[in-house]
Amino acid sequence: MIISYDFGVNLNEYASRGTANFFPLLETCPNCNCLAHGNLHRNGYYWRYGIAEDVTVKIPICRFRCVVCKVSVSILPDFLIPYFQHTIHTILGRVHQLLQRKQACGGRQLLRFHLKRYLKNIHWIHCYFVDKGPVFGMSNEIKKEATKYMKMILDFGESPFLRRSWGHLSKYFMAN
Ligand SMILES: [Zn+2]
Repeated sequence: MIISYDFGVNLNEYASRGTANFFPLLETCPNCNCLAHGNLHRNGYYWRYGIAEDVTVKIPICRFRCVVCKVSVSILPDFLIPYFQHTIHTILGRVHQLLQRKQACGGRQLLRFHLKRYLKNIHWIHCYFVDKGPVFGMSNEIKKEATKYMKMILDFGESPFLRRSWGHLSKYFMAN
C-alpha cells in the first residue's frame, strides 16, 4: 500500500537528499494497525522517476514491510501522485492550461491522458468537497465544473489536497 507523506521539500531537494531524506517512523501498520515496533521492518528503497517541467530525476521511495499482515508500505512524497511520473504541480498546471484553452507543455498523448483522467475524477472531487463544506449541486457542464474544481484544488494547495483527500471513498486523487 502507498502512503502520501509531506517531506517538506520539493522534487529537486528530495532528489538531492536521496536516501538521506527524513523518512517517517510509523507507529502502527497502516494496514493491520498492529504496533509497528518490531513488526514493521524497513525494506530498502525502490527507485522511480520524478518529472517536473524543468527536470527529470530518479528518486528513492522508502519501503516498509509488516511481518504481521505481510503488506508492503511505500512512503510516496506528496508532490507525486501514485503511478504518475510527473509531479502533481506539473500535471495540474498543464491540465489547468488546457481547460483554459491555452497551450500546454508536454506531448499531446500524455496531455490528453492527464486531462481525461482529471475529468474522470471530477465526480469524486465533487463528492470530496461536498463532504468538506459549502459545495452543493453540480451542473452538467463538465468543462465548467472541471475549471471550478481546479481552482478549488489550487486554492487548497495541490499536495495538501492530495494528502487530505487520500482514502476518500477508498480512492485517491487521479486514481483510475
Ligand atoms: Zn500490518
